[in-house]
Amino acid sequence: MTPDQEDARPVDLTPKRWQCCHCGGTGVDSHGETCPHCEGLGFC
Ligand SMILES: [Zn+2]
Ligand SMILES: [Zn+2]
Repeated sequence: MTPDQEDARPVDLTPKRWQCCHCGGTGVDSHGETCPHCEGLGFC
């Protein structure tokens, strides 16, 4: 692990949140299951 390569890690502190393009912000996919793209959050 290299501690000086942090740009490859997901940033949860981002102030901008976008409505998920996969589920449309519902957090549920077309199968009625938790959206794998946003993990049910509805934004990504
Ligand atoms: Zn999305
Ligand atoms: Zn989603």
